[in-house]
Amino acid sequence: MININICIICSHEWASRKPNPKRCANCKSPCWNKGKLRKEKKCFKPKYDIRDLNVNDEKLFPWPQNEKGNLNGRESANMNRSICQYGKRHGKHFHRYGTHAGLKVRRVS
Ligand SMILES: [Zn+2]
Repeated sequence: MININICIICSHEWASRKPNPKRCANCKSPCWNKGKLRKEKKCFKPKYDIRDLNVNDEKLFPWPQNEKGNLNGRESANMNRSICQYGKRHGKHFHRYGTHAGLKVRRVS
């Protein structure tokens, strides 16, 4: 199998039989592909922070608005989804109620 390698230092592109060759064929740098690995890992911090919510606690998240002051539907759906996903990931259960002021989140377990 032929692998195509691209050096992040000199942008040289070359083919090799082995995956992940030790050095770039052009500039001979051993770090030719290391940049990707060093990419910072995104630290998981929920945008809609419900981490400190205790059972039976409630928190209200105002509906997201766009620049015009209208409801941002896409972001609202996002908010709903991320809260739901957070619950699933951490084995917590949240009830979500839509109110005129925003999305009310109540932790039930
Ligand atoms: Zn190179």
